[in-house]
Amino acid sequence: MEDIKGNLGKVHERIRTAAQKADRPEEDITLVAVSKTRTPEEINTAIDAGVTDIGENKVQEIMDKYEAVKPVRWHMIGHLQTNKVKYIIDKVDLIHSVDSLKLAKEINKRAGQHEKVMDILIQINPADEESKFGVSLGEVRGLIEQILEECENVRIRGLMSVAPIAEDPNDVKVYFDGVKQRFDECSQIDHPRLDFKYLSMGMSHDFEVAIEAGSNVVRVGSAIFGERDYEAFRRMKNGGN
Ligand SMILES: *Cc1c(COP(=O)(O)O)cnc(C)c1O
Repeated sequence: MEDIKGNLGKVHERIRTAAQKADRPEEDITLVAVSKTRTPEEINTAIDAGVTDIGENKVQEIMDKYEAVKPVRWHMIGHLQTNKVKYIIDKVDLIHSVDSLKLAKEINKRAGQHEKVMDILIQINPADEESKFGVSLGEVRGLIEQILEECENVRIRGLMSVAPIAEDPNDVKVYFDGVKQRFDECSQIDHPRLDFKYLSMGMSHDFEVAIEAGSNVVRVGSAIFGERDYEAFRRMKNGGN
């Protein structure tokens, strides 16, 4: 097994260095350990080593692992289909990937059924890449206003984005900067159901640059759990064949 505890130490060291460089307290930055394809056992090892927040990008994986994982804050970070909201509404603490009014309305409806207010982030696709989900920078404000108007069981806590892949992560800082600028603008909106606190940007290969740009939630998978092996994951799900 990967040295999850040792890897976590290295990730915290990288976060500390990046925070210092950006002249921000390390405690400002929440580490979400991204556990897609990982077993409950691996996740519990990470929790024992101090992880408080875990992120999954598939509803099915949350459902499969939820019972076997120790108490922790769950983050839904991947694309969410409206017909699957009902399965996770009572399990996750923050949904990072809201990019349509339709999805927000479904979350609103299911949250209401559970008599809870769901915290969400709006996902931005800062480079307008075809392959990625999220709204464009220009659409964020309009979507926020619609959600505030129509979704009384939803609280908007900030923004999330996935930057384009780049050999040198410094090349994508411009996108992180753009999202941070929107974050600062939208955080000024005065509304009881808008409380901007989280700017979720940065993954294993680019989180230092994201922190430099102002991110305070980093979503880190492979740097903690090792490289993902989707083939092995598929075999395991199919019963070890
Ligand atoms: C998988 C994933 C991550 C983590 O990626 P790593 O490169 O393994 O750190 C972060 N955010 C999202 C949305 C993901 O799907």
